[in-house]
Amino acid sequence: MIWGEDIQLNNATMHPIAHASTSPAAATLTVLRLDKLHPVASGNKWFKLKFYLHLAMGSRSGVATFGGAWSNHILATAFACHQLKIPCTGFIRGEEPKQYGPTLSDARALNMRLEFLSRTDYRDKEAIKLRHPNLFIIAEGGYGATGARGAAEILQHVPDLSTYTHIVCATGTGTMLAGIANASLPHQQCIGISVMKNNNSLQQEVDALLIAGAGERVCLLHNYHFGGYAKHTNELLQFMNLTWTLHALPLDLVYTAKAFFAAQDLLAKRYFPPGAKILFIHSGGLQGNRSLPPGRLLF
Ligand SMILES: *Cc1c(COP(=O)(O)O)cnc(C)c1O
Repeated sequence: MIWGEDIQLNNATMHPIAHASTSPAAATLTVLRLDKLHPVASGNKWFKLKFYLHLAMGSRSGVATFGGAWSNHILATAFACHQLKIPCTGFIRGEEPKQYGPTLSDARALNMRLEFLSRTDYRDKEAIKLRHPNLFIIAEGGYGATGARGAAEILQHVPDLSTYTHIVCATGTGTMLAGIANASLPHQQCIGISVMKNNNSLQQEVDALLIAGAGERVCLLHNYHFGGYAKHTNELLQFMNLTWTLHALPLDLVYTAKAFFAAQDLLAKRYFPPGAKILFIHSGGLQGNRSLPPGRLLF
C-alpha cells in the first residue's frame, strides 16, 4: 500500500458555508477540503495517481507524464514518485524557461527529469510514447479509468455522504467527475464545472469512464470558464479574495475558483431545489496561483 504508509495524508475536513438566507427550505453548501490532505501536493491528484503508481511499482522502468509549467499534476507526480522512489520524467509543454517558475523548480528538486517539448511535439503523445517504450506513461491530468477508480475514493472522505443531494466539482479532463459519479448514490446529481472554453469532447471523455447507470447522475456546465483554461478576470480574483475573507477558503484560479463561483451563482439563481444539500469538492491544487504577481491575492 502506498497511501497512508509511504505517504502520510492528513484528514480532509468538512467546511460548512454560511448563507445569508436562513429560510429552512434554502439549499446548504458544504465544502470537502481535499486541499487539507497534504501540505506539498494537495488535492485530487493524489487520488487520480494512486492506482497508476500501484501499477508502475510493478514495472522497473520509471513513470512519465505530461503537463504545463504550472501543473498540479506534474508536481503531485514528482512528489509521489519521490516518496515511492520511482524514477520519473515530466514532459513539459513549451520551451525550457531561462528561469524555472516555482512549480518546475519544486518538481526538479524532487528529482523529476524535465523534458521540454514544443507545442507541436507536445501534442503528438503517441510519438512521445514510441520514443520511450520502457516508461510507464500516465496520461495528461491522469485521465483514464485507472485515474477515475482512484478519484472514486474521494467520496470515502465524506461523513454522511447519503445526506447530500448534489455534488459540485471543477472539471478539467473529467476524470475526477467520472470517479465521483461512479461512487455517488442513486439520488445524487454530480455537476462538473468545465474550466475550459468550448471543450466539446469533454462529455464523451467523461462518458467513457462512467460505469453503467452513472451517466444519468452527471451534468456538465460550460459557461463558467472565465475566458478559458488558466485564464482569469479581475472579477474572478476579487471573488477569490472575497471567499478568503468571508470563509477562509483558499481557491485557485485555474479550477476551484471557477467551480466555487459557479456553485454560488447557481445557488443565487435557484438552480437547486429547495432543501438541496450541496457538497462542493475543494480539489486542492493551488499551483496556478503561483503564476500571479505577488500582492494580487490576500492569501
Ligand atoms: C486537476 C485538477 C482538477 C481537474 O480534475 P480532472 O480530473 O482533470 O477533471 C480540478 N481541481 C484541481 C484543483 C485540479 O488540480
